[in-house]
Amino acid sequence: MERLTVPDKKIDGGLRRAIIDVREVRKEAMTIYWELKKYKDTGLTPEQIMELKERDTAKKPVQTEDGMVCPICGSKAVPWSRFCDECGQRWWEEED
Ligand SMILES: [Zn+2]
Repeated sequence: MERLTVPDKKIDGGLRRAIIDVREVRKEAMTIYWELKKYKDTGLTPEQIMELKERDTAKKPVQTEDGMVCPICGSKAVPWSRFCDECGQRWWEEED
């Protein structure tokens, strides 16, 4: 789906908001409404969604003296599991 909003630009010391053409926004009002509804129907905040996205992004378990551990919570990583039993982090999978 095409992005309906204009991302802010990173500048020194913060973010610069993009200038929005209100007439163009009005033309797309119902498309924006239905996309917003999908998000609101999740019942989640943007922070919760970003947390879930991060947890679902595979990360490689860390090798320690005691074996492989989860890079997020430090619990022991078992080779047959694709997710951490403690925090739910998806783990990076080795290519065969
Ligand atoms: Zn973990």
